[in-house]
Amino acid sequence: MITVNDSWPEIEQYVLELEKRTDQEIWQALHQCKISKYFIDRLVGKKWKVLYNSDTILVGSIHVTEPIIYLADHLKPHQRDITLFHELAHLRHPILLSSLVDTRITPFEKNEREIIVEYFGRKARADSELLRHAVLSFGLEQHVYDQASYAAFRLTPEQLNFSFAADDYKERFPLIMNFRV
Ligand SMILES: [Zn+2]
Repeated sequence: MITVNDSWPEIEQYVLELEKRTDQEIWQALHQCKISKYFIDRLVGKKWKVLYNSDTILVGSIHVTEPIIYLADHLKPHQRDITLFHELAHLRHPILLSSLVDTRITPFEKNEREIIVEYFGRKARADSELLRHAVLSFGLEQHVYDQASYAAFRLTPEQLNFSFAADDYKERFPLIMNFRV
């Protein structure tokens, strides 16, 4: 059985197969409602926080009433970020992909839901602008461990304080010069 810990190709293939045999309107809704910068801003506006938890067997969890996303404090950088985005994907689809609702309201079994959430979470995390926005918005440490995180955090305000560096980076990274500095 596929789990959220499997590799991206396995998760992607599982979800694409599942998509073929499920109601297309549900998938349209899932694809249309993306994790976006605006969605992250709305969470922050509603006082959502991300805190580390040392006392849990879960890598991540959501407490809606507090409202807090808890991440286990022992996660390596890549796992921390995909766990954060996994929880964001749950929050983005509170009915269709909640880990709590039963199958009378969602067409998916719990394990299916978890893998779909992992799929949307990992896809969003691979977007360097979203990764940067989420990590900075929730005040988390920046880690570079792959291409997306490199693109997300390679430019820092400190680097851009040097005028020669700013010009150099503008040429090399034109697409990511729009960040606030
Ligand atoms: Zn989950």
